[in-house]
Amino acid sequence: MLATTPIETLSTRMSGRVVTPSDAGWDRARQVFNLATDLRPAAVALPRDTRDVVAAVEFARDHGLRVAPQATGHNADAYGSLEDTLLVDVRELQDVSIDPRARRVRVGAGVKWGQVAPGLSDHGLAALHGSSPDVGIAGYSLGGGMGWLARKHGLQANSVTAIELVTADGRASRVDAEHAPDLFWALRGGNGNFGVVTAIEFAVYPVEDLYAGVMFFPFQRAAEVLHAWTELVPTLPDELMSWASLLQFPDAPFVPEPVRGGSFAVVYGAFLGGEAEGRALLRPLRDLGPAMDTFAMVPPAALGDMAMDPPDPLPFVPTTAVLGDLPHAGVDELVAAVGPESGSPLAMVELRQLGGALGRHAPGAGARATLPGSLVLMALGVPEDEEAETTVRAYLHSLDRAVRPYHVGDYANFVMEPTDASRFFDEDTWTRLRRVKAVYDADDLFRGNHHIPPAD
Ligand SMILES: Cc1cc2nc3c(=O)[nH]c(=O)nc-3n(C[C@H](O)[C@H](O)[C@H](O)COP(=O)(O)OP(=O)(O)OC[C@H]3O[C@@H](n4cnc5c(N)ncnc54)[C@H](O)[C@@H]3O)c2cc1C
Repeated sequence: MLATTPIETLSTRMSGRVVTPSDAGWDRARQVFNLATDLRPAAVALPRDTRDVVAAVEFARDHGLRVAPQATGHNADAYGSLEDTLLVDVRELQDVSIDPRARRVRVGAGVKWGQVAPGLSDHGLAALHGSSPDVGIAGYSLGGGMGWLARKHGLQANSVTAIELVTADGRASRVDAEHAPDLFWALRGGNGNFGVVTAIEFAVYPVEDLYAGVMFFPFQRAAEVLHAWTELVPTLPDELMSWASLLQFPDAPFVPEPVRGGSFAVVYGAFLGGEAEGRALLRPLRDLGPAMDTFAMVPPAALGDMAMDPPDPLPFVPTTAVLGDLPHAGVDELVAAVGPESGSPLAMVELRQLGGALGRHAPGAGARATLPGSLVLMALGVPEDEEAETTVRAYLHSLDRAVRPYHVGDYANFVMEPTDASRFFDEDTWTRLRRVKAVYDADDLFRGNHHIPPAD
């Protein structure tokens, strides 16, 4: 445990705050996106600049603490116990610079996608962000990052061009393909296991507009919609990314008025192309006669909240799996488990199409180069009390059982529970990650949410 004097020592060495369990702001400082998570680190350091990060890392190292780096706390559940760990929360590192000509962006490690994507859109540019503008660019990029344009441009981790970080020796450096390339490789998929990232630089892509939107069908038509969708997606070009969800919306202000409080089977799409071609590609779904259809030519900024993810923290219980395929029998089992006749309270059961560039190893890619499979499942419930949580867990369990025959892997960013991180990598990649860890952090100072131990 931390003694009083050392914590005070850290406060005096940082311009940012250090919050401890006896401070008034403790509960706010340790709160993360999932309100069901009870994170209990030894203290939370909130650096204002790189010098503060160096001070926090050196302090932890010299006082027998470990360091857990965090940006927004969207994937904090995976940490498990943070006993004897200093949470270095970079939320105050907020620099943003956009170079539209070079199509490069550099952000402080605390910046969220919503602070960058609209400005890029004004320049006719799009980044590889995902469903929620509230997710942090750092954690998303370090774990992979799979968004609307991923089938064309791959994982965000592989569009990262440079990373600035503080390593276990207390040094601040900038790594890229030429400088410490082994560390640069490991960071792009290896999460917060190699240092505290202070800034991240990445490439963005020219997109003036695209054909994108959502088709809403009555929840009762879930089986019909999912059958049509799973048949269609293998035929689509890399320029089109489509997701299908069973959504049971709360009666909450963040939900758009026409769907608030309702249950739907929905299909999303983002097509890097024109309306006529987009319409033709999605015709089998539109022929089903959606109750509402928002597809239109839109600027890339419209992708920011197209998925209608909740903008504020809430208590949730998730499950996920990467699927090799989902044949008709699998769709029927999924719908029986969590569809309209099941009584399921799950707020979201989402299938995202994979493939395209997500399955191709790009030259110079990082440790998370590709994702296996053809679909990824992400589902969650939002229980309000313990009884509701038991019910949600039972439905998630039935869903897991329904898709188990098609399970081929796991996507680290979607896994929000403590687990053995070796399951996310093939054997060679895991061995290499552990070797790089042994070079840069032999004493295992840093623990990312999905922990990678140093090689023996
Ligand atoms: C509502 C919601 C929507 C999502 N949508 C998508 C999506 O569309 N596509 C997708 O791929 N993922 C998605 N995710 C998953 C998301 O990418 C992961 O949860 C990701 O880890 C979040 O990063 P963060 O920085 O916001 O969260 P944090 O919890 O702050 O960070 C997660 C982990 O990243 C590492 N990390 C963060 N900051 C640093 C740092 N400064 N230095 C070193 N390591 C650091 C640490 O290991 C940390 O534990 C979603 C999650 C939620 C909750």
